[in-house]
Amino acid sequence: MFREVVLGLGNNAAVSGVVKRYGMSLGASRFVAGDSLSSAVPVCQDLNRRGIAVTLDHLGESVRDEPAAIAAKDSYLEILQTIAEKGLKANVSLKLTMMGLALSVDLARSNLAAVVETAAGFNNFVRIDMEDSPYTSITIDLFEEVWEKFPGHVGLVLQSYLYRTQDDLKRLSEPPKNFRIVKGAYRESVAVAFPSKPDVDDNYVELVRQSLELGNMTAIATHDEVIIGRVLKYLKSHQVLPEQFEFQMLYGVKLGVLEELAKEGYRTRVYVPYGQDWYAYYVRRIAERPANLLFFARALIDRR
Ligand SMILES: Cc1cc2nc3c(=O)[nH]c(=O)nc-3n(C[C@H](O)[C@H](O)[C@H](O)COP(=O)(O)OP(=O)(O)OC[C@H]3O[C@@H](n4cnc5c(N)ncnc54)[C@H](O)[C@@H]3O)c2cc1C
Repeated sequence: MFREVVLGLGNNAAVSGVVKRYGMSLGASRFVAGDSLSSAVPVCQDLNRRGIAVTLDHLGESVRDEPAAIAAKDSYLEILQTIAEKGLKANVSLKLTMMGLALSVDLARSNLAAVVETAAGFNNFVRIDMEDSPYTSITIDLFEEVWEKFPGHVGLVLQSYLYRTQDDLKRLSEPPKNFRIVKGAYRESVAVAFPSKPDVDDNYVELVRQSLELGNMTAIATHDEVIIGRVLKYLKSHQVLPEQFEFQMLYGVKLGVLEELAKEGYRTRVYVPYGQDWYAYYVRRIAERPANLLFFARALIDRR
């Protein structure tokens, strides 16, 4: 309920005006590593020093015109170049609506292909984030197309809140690929998504189990320590090879837990977003936890 309200309010023009004006100084900077690639690089280097890999995300979604989509694609080529030059232990995550998907499928297809081809040239990897459900099928289609050309250099996100995901996972896993499993961060209707958290959580654990059994490289992307405990139990009792999975978390959330996992020898990665277009990302982070909204509201009051 809280989540639905915050995600709904996020679309309100008055609310977005205030948050865009003050958000970076009122909490957004906790989740966003600055507004440029040069501000994200030291964050990445620091995490690497702690034994944690990174996935860099240039924030942006639903670009409005073709030049913006081309510029977004170019920004990813620059990130891949920078990762190689600076020797960062990092790959990239991107959203297809930033590559122009809402404007034209062909535009998104060609931009995605260019980024993945460049990543393959650097022997690196591109993760396609999953957005809201109107884009699920086309995102899967474009992933499959580009995977055919560059297997090993591209992976997809699957969301446990969607009823369809177990079927998608089974079909996509022939042959095995690389999936990040998340709960799902968007506002979805009961027609497509489990409305209750226990169902989303149970489906999450089930998807991780199935993904591993089907032979996929599986990124376990959650801050939910109960789920992490359940997954660890499964990994140990089934002697899953350490190369077959990694734990992932978002920048600004539960880094200590991830560091502990890294110290225990598990592969770990932090999703590090940066860029000026941070608003929608920040609203989703607030919606995940009531305390984040209280923190924002208190900071706003203190400022006045
Ligand atoms: C690496 C990574 C990549 C992701 N990529 C996508 C994607 O492509 N598409 C998509 O739809 N979603 C994505 N997500 C977001 C995901 O869907 C969830 O919305 C988010 O991870 C919160 O769910 P949770 O699994 O942490 O569980 P929850 O049950 O939401 O949270 C468990 C606990 O973690 C802590 N926590 C969780 N979120 C926050 C927060 N924002 N601030 C502070 N504490 C918090 C709280 O203590 C909470 O009780 C991604 C998440 C991660 C970690």
